[in-house]
Amino acid sequence: MKPSEIDLHKELKKYFGFNQFKGLQEGVVKSIITGNNTFVIMPTGGGKSLCYQLPALVLDGTAIVVSPLIALMKNQVDAIRSLSSEYGIAHVLNSSLTKTEVNQVKKDITSGVTKLLYVAPESLTKEEYIDFLRSVPISFVAIDEAHCISEWGHDFRPEYRNLRAIIKQLGDVPIIGLTATATPKVQEDILKNLDMTDANTFKASFNRPNLYYEVRPKTKNVEADIIRFIKQHKGKSGVIYCLSRKKVEEIAQVLQVNGISAVPYHAGLDAKTRAKHQDMFLMEDVDVVVATIAFGMGIDKPDVRFVIHHDIPKSLESYYQETGRAGRDGGEGHCVAYYSYKDIEKLEKFMAGKPVAEQEIGFALLQEVVSYAETSMSRRKFLLHYFGEEFDEVNGEGADMDDNVRNPKKKVEAKDQVVL
Ligand code: ADP
Ligand code: MG
Repeated sequence: MKPSEIDLHKELKKYFGFNQFKGLQEGVVKSIITGNNTFVIMPTGGGKSLCYQLPALVLDGTAIVVSPLIALMKNQVDAIRSLSSEYGIAHVLNSSLTKTEVNQVKKDITSGVTKLLYVAPESLTKEEYIDFLRSVPISFVAIDEAHCISEWGHDFRPEYRNLRAIIKQLGDVPIIGLTATATPKVQEDILKNLDMTDANTFKASFNRPNLYYEVRPKTKNVEADIIRFIKQHKGKSGVIYCLSRKKVEEIAQVLQVNGISAVPYHAGLDAKTRAKHQDMFLMEDVDVVVATIAFGMGIDKPDVRFVIHHDIPKSLESYYQETGRAGRDGGEGHCVAYYSYKDIEKLEKFMAGKPVAEQEIGFALLQEVVSYAETSMSRRKFLLHYFGEEFDEVNGEGADMDDNVRNPKKKVEAKDQVVL
Protein backbone atom coordinates (compact mmCIF):
# COMPACT_ATOMS: atom_id res chain seq x y z
CA MET A 1 0.00 0.00 0.00
CA LYS A 2 1.20 3.51 -0.81
CA PRO A 3 1.78 5.63 2.31
CA SER A 4 -0.83 8.12 1.15
CA GLU A 5 -3.45 5.38 1.10
CA ILE A 6 -2.95 4.26 4.67
CA ASP A 7 -5.90 5.11 6.89
CA LEU A 8 -3.96 6.43 9.85
CA HIS A 9 -6.93 6.80 12.16
CA LYS A 10 -7.84 3.20 11.57
CA GLU A 11 -4.29 2.05 12.30
CA LEU A 12 -4.16 4.25 15.39
CA LYS A 13 -7.28 2.62 16.70
CA LYS A 14 -6.16 -0.85 15.73
CA TYR A 15 -2.74 -0.79 17.34
CA PHE A 16 -3.17 1.68 20.20
CA GLY A 17 -6.88 1.87 20.82
CA PHE A 18 -6.88 5.66 20.55
CA ASN A 19 -9.54 7.55 18.63
CA GLN A 20 -7.50 10.67 18.05
CA PHE A 21 -3.98 11.82 17.54
CA LYS A 22 -2.55 13.97 20.28
CA GLY A 23 -1.09 17.37 19.43
CA LEU A 24 1.18 17.23 16.42
CA GLN A 25 1.32 13.45 16.16
CA GLU A 26 -0.60 13.09 12.91
CA GLY A 27 1.66 15.47 11.02
CA VAL A 28 4.72 13.73 12.37
CA VAL A 29 3.44 10.29 11.42
CA LYS A 30 2.67 11.49 7.87
CA SER A 31 6.11 13.01 7.55
CA ILE A 32 7.74 9.77 8.58
CA ILE A 33 5.69 7.41 6.47
CA THR A 34 6.41 9.50 3.40
CA GLY A 35 10.12 8.98 4.04
CA ASN A 36 11.24 12.35 5.36
CA ASN A 37 13.86 13.15 7.92
CA THR A 38 11.78 14.39 10.81
CA PHE A 39 12.54 16.24 14.01
CA VAL A 40 10.10 16.14 16.90
CA ILE A 41 10.28 18.39 19.93
CA MET A 42 7.54 17.69 22.44
CA PRO A 43 7.50 17.94 26.19
CA THR A 44 7.66 14.77 28.25
CA GLY A 45 4.32 13.04 28.14
CA GLY A 46 3.54 14.64 24.79
CA GLY A 47 3.30 11.26 23.08
CA LYS A 48 6.57 11.03 21.20
CA SER A 49 6.77 7.22 21.18
CA LEU A 50 3.65 6.85 19.09
CA CYS A 51 5.15 9.22 16.51
CA TYR A 52 7.60 6.52 15.44
CA GLN A 53 5.81 3.40 16.66
CA LEU A 54 2.80 3.83 14.42
CA PRO A 55 4.87 4.46 11.27
CA ALA A 56 7.04 1.46 12.16
CA LEU A 57 3.96 -0.75 12.42
CA VAL A 58 2.48 0.31 9.08
CA LEU A 59 5.66 0.51 6.99
CA ASP A 60 7.52 -2.39 5.44
CA GLY A 61 10.78 -3.39 7.07
CA THR A 62 12.07 -2.87 10.57
CA ALA A 63 12.46 0.49 12.29
CA ILE A 64 15.52 0.89 14.47
CA VAL A 65 14.89 2.83 17.65
CA VAL A 66 17.92 4.15 19.46
CA SER A 67 17.25 4.76 23.12
CA PRO A 68 19.70 5.46 25.93
CA LEU A 69 18.17 3.41 28.69
CA ILE A 70 17.70 -0.29 28.63
CA ALA A 71 15.05 -0.09 31.35
CA LEU A 72 13.03 2.40 29.31
CA MET A 73 13.38 0.24 26.25
CA LYS A 74 12.08 -2.77 28.07
CA ASN A 75 9.04 -0.79 29.21
CA GLN A 76 8.30 0.30 25.70
CA VAL A 77 8.76 -3.13 24.22
CA ASP A 78 6.45 -4.63 26.82
CA ALA A 79 3.89 -1.91 26.13
CA ILE A 80 3.99 -2.59 22.40
CA ARG A 81 3.74 -6.31 22.93
CA SER A 82 0.66 -5.84 25.05
CA LEU A 83 -0.95 -3.91 22.21
CA SER A 84 -0.83 -6.73 19.79
CA SER A 85 -1.05 -10.46 20.09
CA GLU A 86 1.30 -10.81 17.16
CA TYR A 87 4.42 -12.11 18.81
CA GLY A 88 7.71 -10.41 18.13
CA ILE A 89 6.50 -7.08 16.87
CA ALA A 90 9.08 -5.28 19.03
CA HIS A 91 12.49 -6.49 20.13
CA VAL A 92 15.44 -5.22 22.07
CA LEU A 93 18.99 -5.81 20.90
CA ASN A 94 21.61 -5.23 23.54
CA SER A 95 24.43 -6.67 25.53
CA SER A 96 22.13 -8.39 28.01
CA LEU A 97 20.96 -10.93 25.41
CA THR A 98 22.40 -14.41 25.09
CA LYS A 99 23.70 -15.66 21.76
CA THR A 100 20.54 -17.74 21.30
CA GLU A 101 18.34 -14.73 21.96
CA VAL A 102 20.29 -12.62 19.51
CA ASN A 103 19.82 -15.28 16.86
CA GLN A 104 16.09 -15.40 17.51
CA VAL A 105 15.85 -11.61 17.15
CA LYS A 106 17.78 -11.78 13.90
CA LYS A 107 15.47 -14.48 12.61
CA ASP A 108 12.38 -12.39 13.43
CA ILE A 109 13.84 -9.35 11.72
CA THR A 110 14.72 -11.33 8.63
CA SER A 111 11.27 -12.87 8.42
CA GLY A 112 9.69 -9.44 8.75
CA VAL A 113 7.93 -10.07 12.06
CA THR A 114 9.91 -7.44 13.98
CA LYS A 115 8.63 -3.96 13.23
CA LEU A 116 10.53 -2.15 15.98
CA LEU A 117 14.05 -2.94 17.05
CA TYR A 118 15.22 -1.06 20.14
CA VAL A 119 18.96 -0.69 20.48
CA ALA A 120 21.27 1.09 22.85
CA PRO A 121 23.67 3.41 21.02
CA GLU A 122 26.69 1.41 22.13
CA SER A 123 25.22 -1.79 20.67
CA LEU A 124 24.90 -0.09 17.32
CA THR A 125 28.65 0.35 17.14
CA LYS A 126 29.10 -3.42 17.09
CA GLU A 127 30.43 -4.50 13.72
CA GLU A 128 28.42 -7.71 13.87
CA TYR A 129 25.11 -5.90 14.33
CA ILE A 130 25.83 -3.32 11.67
CA ASP A 131 26.67 -6.00 9.12
CA PHE A 132 23.45 -7.75 9.93
CA LEU A 133 21.32 -4.60 9.83
CA ARG A 134 22.75 -3.69 6.42
CA SER A 135 21.40 -6.93 5.08
CA VAL A 136 17.77 -6.40 6.10
CA PRO A 137 15.20 -3.78 5.06
CA ILE A 138 15.18 -0.83 7.50
CA SER A 139 12.19 1.52 7.34
CA PHE A 140 13.83 4.34 9.30
CA VAL A 141 15.99 5.05 12.31
CA ALA A 142 14.38 6.85 15.23
CA ILE A 143 16.66 8.47 17.76
CA ASP A 144 14.80 8.93 21.01
CA GLU A 145 16.14 11.36 23.62
CA ALA A 146 18.08 12.96 20.77
CA HIS A 147 19.40 15.71 23.06
CA CYS A 148 21.94 13.13 24.28
CA ILE A 149 23.86 14.08 21.13
CA SER A 150 24.46 17.63 22.37
CA GLU A 151 26.91 18.82 24.95
CA TRP A 152 24.38 21.54 25.66
CA GLY A 153 21.78 18.94 26.55
CA HIS A 154 21.27 17.85 30.11
CA ASP A 155 22.32 14.31 29.39
CA PHE A 156 25.20 14.31 26.92
CA ARG A 157 26.28 10.85 25.80
CA PRO A 158 29.34 10.64 23.57
CA GLU A 159 28.10 7.41 21.93
CA TYR A 160 25.32 9.42 20.36
CA ARG A 161 27.92 11.30 18.35
CA ASN A 162 28.72 8.19 16.32
CA LEU A 163 25.16 7.60 15.25
CA ARG A 164 25.20 9.59 12.05
CA ALA A 165 28.22 7.74 10.69
CA ILE A 166 26.68 4.39 11.59
CA ILE A 167 23.33 5.20 10.07
CA LYS A 168 25.08 6.22 6.84
CA GLN A 169 26.44 2.69 6.65
CA LEU A 170 22.90 1.36 6.72
CA GLY A 171 22.13 3.10 3.46
CA ASP A 172 19.74 5.90 2.65
CA VAL A 173 17.29 5.60 5.54
CA PRO A 174 15.25 8.47 6.96
CA ILE A 175 16.15 9.65 10.43
CA ILE A 176 13.69 10.70 13.08
CA GLY A 177 15.06 12.66 16.04
CA LEU A 178 12.89 13.09 19.12
CA THR A 179 13.51 15.10 22.25
CA ALA A 180 11.84 16.94 25.07
CA THR A 181 14.67 19.44 25.28
CA ALA A 182 13.63 22.56 23.55
CA THR A 183 16.49 25.02 23.85
CA PRO A 184 17.38 26.43 20.44
CA LYS A 185 21.04 25.56 20.96
CA VAL A 186 20.37 21.88 21.57
CA GLN A 187 18.02 21.71 18.60
CA GLU A 188 20.63 23.19 16.32
CA ASP A 189 23.21 20.73 17.61
CA ILE A 190 20.93 17.77 16.99
CA LEU A 191 20.14 18.75 13.42
CA LYS A 192 23.78 19.45 12.64
CA ASN A 193 25.10 16.29 14.22
CA LEU A 194 22.56 14.10 12.50
CA ASP A 195 23.19 15.94 9.26
CA MET A 196 19.50 16.61 8.78
CA THR A 197 19.06 20.35 8.64
CA ASP A 198 16.50 19.56 5.93
CA ALA A 199 14.26 17.71 8.43
CA ASN A 200 10.57 18.47 8.81
CA THR A 201 10.47 19.97 12.27
CA PHE A 202 7.52 19.68 14.61
CA LYS A 203 7.68 21.61 17.83
CA ALA A 204 4.90 21.51 20.38
CA SER A 205 4.37 24.21 22.96
CA PHE A 206 6.15 23.66 26.26
CA ASN A 207 3.67 25.67 28.24
CA ARG A 208 2.16 23.77 31.17
CA PRO A 209 -0.64 26.11 32.18
CA ASN A 210 -1.71 24.05 35.20
CA LEU A 211 1.69 24.22 36.89
CA TYR A 212 2.27 26.95 39.45
CA TYR A 213 5.92 28.08 39.65
CA GLU A 214 7.38 29.48 42.80
CA VAL A 215 10.84 30.23 44.14
CA ARG A 216 11.42 30.54 47.87
CA PRO A 217 14.56 31.75 49.57
CA LYS A 218 16.44 28.86 51.12
CA THR A 219 17.09 29.62 54.73
CA LYS A 220 17.98 27.40 57.64
CA ASN A 221 14.24 26.88 58.07
CA VAL A 222 13.87 25.12 54.76
CA GLU A 223 12.94 21.79 56.31
CA ALA A 224 10.25 23.29 58.50
CA ASP A 225 8.95 25.13 55.47
CA ILE A 226 8.76 21.94 53.43
CA ILE A 227 6.95 20.14 56.24
CA ARG A 228 4.44 22.97 56.48
CA PHE A 229 3.91 22.87 52.74
CA ILE A 230 3.31 19.12 52.72
CA LYS A 231 0.90 19.35 55.64
CA GLN A 232 -1.03 21.98 53.71
CA HIS A 233 -1.29 19.41 50.91
CA LYS A 234 -2.24 16.51 53.11
CA GLY A 235 -2.82 13.20 51.38
CA LYS A 236 -1.54 14.47 48.06
CA SER A 237 1.31 12.95 46.09
CA GLY A 238 4.55 14.85 45.73
CA VAL A 239 8.22 14.56 44.92
CA ILE A 240 11.07 16.32 46.70
CA TYR A 241 14.31 16.56 44.77
CA CYS A 242 17.66 16.84 46.51
CA LEU A 243 21.12 16.94 45.04
CA SER A 244 22.82 14.30 47.15
CA ARG A 245 21.90 10.86 48.38
CA LYS A 246 22.79 11.93 51.88
CA LYS A 247 20.36 14.82 51.75
CA VAL A 248 17.66 12.53 50.39
CA GLU A 249 18.04 10.18 53.36
CA GLU A 250 18.10 13.08 55.79
CA ILE A 251 14.99 14.77 54.48
CA ALA A 252 13.08 11.50 54.19
CA GLN A 253 13.83 10.84 57.81
CA VAL A 254 12.87 14.33 58.95
CA LEU A 255 9.56 13.96 57.13
CA GLN A 256 8.89 10.55 58.65
CA VAL A 257 9.63 11.85 62.14
CA ASN A 258 7.11 14.58 61.46
CA GLY A 259 4.39 12.13 60.59
CA ILE A 260 4.60 12.40 56.81
CA SER A 261 4.64 9.16 54.86
CA ALA A 262 7.75 9.44 52.75
CA VAL A 263 10.37 7.15 51.23
CA PRO A 264 13.84 7.88 49.86
CA TYR A 265 14.87 7.09 46.30
CA HIS A 266 18.40 7.32 44.93
CA ALA A 267 20.91 5.28 42.99
CA GLY A 268 22.71 4.24 46.16
CA LEU A 269 19.79 2.04 47.21
CA ASP A 270 19.73 -1.48 45.84
CA ALA A 271 17.46 -2.17 42.88
CA LYS A 272 14.93 -4.04 45.00
CA THR A 273 14.49 -1.20 47.48
CA ARG A 274 14.28 1.33 44.68
CA ALA A 275 11.60 -0.67 42.90
CA LYS A 276 9.72 -1.10 46.17
CA HIS A 277 9.77 2.59 46.98
CA GLN A 278 8.73 3.52 43.49
CA ASP A 279 5.81 1.08 43.65
CA MET A 280 4.79 2.38 47.07
CA PHE A 281 4.57 5.84 45.59
CA LEU A 282 2.70 4.72 42.48
CA MET A 283 0.28 2.64 44.58
CA GLU A 284 -0.17 5.52 47.03
CA ASP A 285 1.09 3.63 50.04
CA VAL A 286 3.20 6.72 50.63
CA ASP A 287 2.51 10.33 49.76
CA VAL A 288 5.99 11.62 49.19
CA VAL A 289 9.17 10.44 47.49
CA VAL A 290 12.36 12.20 48.42
CA ALA A 291 14.73 11.63 45.54
CA THR A 292 17.78 12.47 43.55
CA ILE A 293 17.40 12.95 39.82
CA ALA A 294 17.65 9.15 39.55
CA PHE A 295 13.92 9.20 40.19
CA GLY A 296 11.46 10.06 37.50
CA MET A 297 12.82 8.80 34.20
CA GLY A 298 9.78 7.17 32.70
CA ILE A 299 7.61 7.60 35.79
CA ASP A 300 4.07 8.29 34.72
CA LYS A 301 2.00 9.02 37.81
CA PRO A 302 -0.72 11.37 36.61
CA ASP A 303 -1.69 12.99 39.91
CA VAL A 304 1.57 14.25 41.37
CA ARG A 305 0.37 17.48 43.01
CA PHE A 306 3.68 19.07 43.95
CA VAL A 307 7.35 18.95 43.05
CA ILE A 308 9.69 20.60 45.52
CA HIS A 309 13.35 21.27 44.81
CA HIS A 310 15.17 21.34 48.10
CA ASP A 311 18.27 22.05 46.01
CA ILE A 312 18.16 24.05 42.85
CA PRO A 313 19.01 21.91 39.78
CA LYS A 314 21.94 22.62 37.52
CA SER A 315 19.98 23.64 34.46
CA LEU A 316 16.56 24.93 33.53
CA GLU A 317 16.06 21.89 31.30
CA SER A 318 16.39 19.70 34.36
CA TYR A 319 14.09 21.98 36.29
CA TYR A 320 11.47 21.88 33.58
CA GLN A 321 11.73 18.09 33.24
CA GLU A 322 11.50 17.49 36.95
CA THR A 323 8.65 19.90 37.60
CA GLY A 324 6.97 18.44 34.52
CA ARG A 325 6.16 15.36 36.57
CA ALA A 326 3.56 17.37 38.44
CA GLY A 327 0.00 17.69 37.21
CA ARG A 328 0.22 15.29 34.28
CA ASP A 329 -3.54 14.81 34.53
CA GLY A 330 -4.09 18.52 33.98
CA GLY A 331 -4.94 19.10 37.63
CA GLU A 332 -3.08 21.22 40.14
CA GLY A 333 0.71 21.04 40.15
CA HIS A 334 2.64 23.22 42.56
CA CYS A 335 6.36 23.61 41.84
CA VAL A 336 8.54 25.15 44.52
CA ALA A 337 12.28 25.68 44.22
CA TYR A 338 14.34 26.68 47.23
CA TYR A 339 17.10 28.97 46.18
CA SER A 340 20.24 30.22 47.82
CA TYR A 341 23.29 31.48 46.01
CA LYS A 342 25.35 29.21 48.24
CA ASP A 343 23.89 26.23 46.38
CA ILE A 344 24.98 27.75 43.10
CA GLU A 345 28.51 28.05 44.44
CA LYS A 346 28.35 24.44 45.53
CA LEU A 347 27.33 23.37 42.04
CA GLU A 348 30.16 25.44 40.59
CA LYS A 349 32.59 23.68 42.87
CA PHE A 350 31.34 20.29 41.65
CA MET A 351 32.16 21.35 38.14
CA ALA A 352 35.66 22.53 38.94
CA GLY A 353 37.22 19.13 38.26
CA LYS A 354 35.64 18.72 34.83
CA PRO A 355 37.18 19.45 31.42
CA VAL A 356 37.20 23.15 30.56
CA ALA A 357 34.66 22.93 27.74
CA GLU A 358 32.25 21.10 29.97
CA GLN A 359 32.77 23.62 32.75
CA GLU A 360 31.98 26.51 30.46
CA ILE A 361 28.73 24.93 29.40
CA GLY A 362 27.93 24.05 32.98
CA PHE A 363 28.47 27.62 34.17
CA ALA A 364 26.40 29.06 31.34
CA LEU A 365 23.50 26.73 32.15
CA LEU A 366 23.81 27.56 35.84
CA GLN A 367 23.74 31.27 35.10
CA GLU A 368 20.33 30.77 33.52
CA VAL A 369 19.15 29.04 36.67
CA VAL A 370 20.31 32.02 38.72
CA SER A 371 18.50 34.41 36.39
CA TYR A 372 15.33 32.37 36.65
CA ALA A 373 15.49 32.25 40.43
CA GLU A 374 16.19 35.96 40.77
CA THR A 375 13.90 37.27 38.08
CA SER A 376 10.93 39.41 38.97
CA MET A 377 9.18 38.75 35.68
CA SER A 378 6.67 36.03 34.88
CA ARG A 379 8.48 32.76 35.53
CA ARG A 380 6.47 31.02 32.86
CA LYS A 381 7.52 33.65 30.34
CA PHE A 382 11.13 33.26 31.43
CA LEU A 383 11.07 29.46 31.10
CA LEU A 384 9.31 29.48 27.77
CA HIS A 385 11.63 32.14 26.41
CA TYR A 386 14.52 29.91 27.41
CA PHE A 387 12.95 27.22 25.23
CA GLY A 388 12.69 29.58 22.30
CA GLU A 389 8.98 30.19 22.77
CA GLU A 390 7.16 33.50 23.04
CA PHE A 391 4.64 33.77 25.86
CA ASP A 392 2.00 36.44 26.32
CA GLU A 393 2.24 37.15 30.03
CA VAL A 394 -1.12 38.89 30.08
CA ASN A 395 -3.39 36.62 28.10
CA GLY A 396 -1.34 33.44 27.72
CA GLU A 397 -2.65 30.22 29.24
CA GLY A 398 -1.56 30.00 32.87
CA ALA A 399 -0.34 33.60 32.88
CA ASP A 400 -1.11 34.15 36.55
CA MET A 401 0.30 30.85 37.73
CA ASP A 402 3.48 31.99 39.41
CA ASP A 403 4.63 33.86 42.47
CA ASN A 404 6.03 36.86 40.60
CA VAL A 405 2.79 37.49 38.80
CA ARG A 406 0.62 36.99 41.88
CA ASN A 407 2.84 39.02 44.21
CA PRO A 408 4.71 41.39 41.95
CA LYS A 409 6.58 43.22 44.70
CA LYS A 410 8.28 40.27 46.26
CA LYS A 411 11.69 39.60 44.78
CA VAL A 412 14.07 36.86 45.82
CA GLU A 413 17.63 38.10 46.02
CA ALA A 414 19.45 35.28 47.66
CA LYS A 415 22.76 37.07 47.19
CA ASP A 416 21.73 39.80 49.59
CA GLN A 417 20.07 37.48 51.94
CA VAL A 418 21.56 36.81 55.34
CA VAL A 419 21.52 33.09 55.92
CA LEU A 420 20.94 32.66 59.64
P1 ADP B 1 6.88 11.12 25.64
O1 ADP B 1 7.82 10.08 25.08
O2 ADP B 1 6.67 12.27 24.71
O3 ADP B 1 7.26 11.56 27.00
P2 ADP B 1 5.00 8.97 25.63
O4 ADP B 1 5.25 8.49 24.27
O5 ADP B 1 5.61 8.19 26.73
O6 ADP B 1 5.45 10.49 25.78
O7 ADP B 1 3.42 9.12 25.82
C1 ADP B 1 2.87 9.69 26.96
C2 ADP B 1 1.47 9.14 27.19
O8 ADP B 1 0.56 9.61 26.22
C3 ADP B 1 1.41 7.64 27.14
O9 ADP B 1 0.69 7.19 28.27
C4 ADP B 1 0.68 7.34 25.86
O10 ADP B 1 -0.06 6.15 25.93
C5 ADP B 1 -0.24 8.55 25.74
N1 ADP B 1 -0.65 8.83 24.35
C6 ADP B 1 0.16 8.94 23.29
N2 ADP B 1 -0.54 9.21 22.17
C7 ADP B 1 -1.83 9.28 22.52
C8 ADP B 1 -3.07 9.53 21.82
N3 ADP B 1 -3.08 9.78 20.51
N4 ADP B 1 -4.21 9.52 22.55
C9 ADP B 1 -4.19 9.29 23.88
N5 ADP B 1 -3.08 9.03 24.59
C10 ADP B 1 -1.91 9.04 23.94
MG1 MG C 1 9.68 9.28 25.43
